[in-house]
Amino acid sequence: MPIHEKSLIRPENLRVHDKLVLDGIDVSGHWSTFVEPRVVTDYNERLQEEIAALPGGEHIHRCWQCGSCTNSCTVNAVNPDFNPRYWIYLIRMGMESELLRDKEIIWQCVSCNKCTYACPRDVFPEGVMKATAHWLELEGHTPQSKSSMFDAEFTEQVVATGKIEEGRIIRGFFKRSGQPLMQPWLIEMAKRLARHLPLKMGFLMGIAAVVRPRTRGWGRAKAALEDYIAGQERAQKSALGLGAPVAPAKGAVHAAPGAER
Ligand code: SF4
Ligand code: SF4
Repeated sequence: MPIHEKSLIRPENLRVHDKLVLDGIDVSGHWSTFVEPRVVTDYNERLQEEIAALPGGEHIHRCWQCGSCTNSCTVNAVNPDFNPRYWIYLIRMGMESELLRDKEIIWQCVSCNKCTYACPRDVFPEGVMKATAHWLELEGHTPQSKSSMFDAEFTEQVVATGKIEEGRIIRGFFKRSGQPLMQPWLIEMAKRLARHLPLKMGFLMGIAAVVRPRTRGWGRAKAALEDYIAGQERAQKSALGLGAPVAPAKGAVHAAPGAER
């Protein structure tokens, strides 16, 4: 598919002649702009399958490149380089090295889901952005993001106790991400909470921070959750060629690359 957006052409690939006359016609300046041809040789033919194997990426094969996601995108409005439609195109084409050139901005999706509502094909572009950011981390192209660290802390706490305790999550997240616990905004929030929080609730929160309560009878649910998470992680790594192959579950239906619904 031709790409019509000038923002997608790398500046180093543009050639402009300050002085150029062709067949007696002066085409100096931007009239003589050419795009340097290039050959892509390093296709990753499994790229779409790899993204589709991660949560959120399942429906990437449905995209028909209408551009509604990019047109409606909150981040694209302030940074034209943030382009979900283009990245989905690269993934479907297997153009991994081209995708990697934008690896530093893909994580910037703010999950506003405007693209999700705009997409006529139910691709869930927000999910594809998350899956792509996850893929970049799993493949070691980017370090673990703070968002992933928060998710890991949250999941660990839920699995361990069947409950969440906000203060513990914040502390654990700051520790994982190397941030100091005493941050001005947090201190200000604590002060306001102390002013307005009912005494009983403040007391219960204090107790929960110390004793770490657990949901009654959580043991069996915990084991089932751990089993499920481990299975999902194995399947995802296997799809990315990072672990032992995992046989698909009985009755599981996988969309073939390029298949339409
Ligand atoms: S969810 Fe992400 S990709 Fe979608 S519109 Fe919002 S910022 Fe853009
Ligand atoms: S709105 Fe949906 S179909 Fe259109 S380009 Fe974006 S993901 Fe593809």
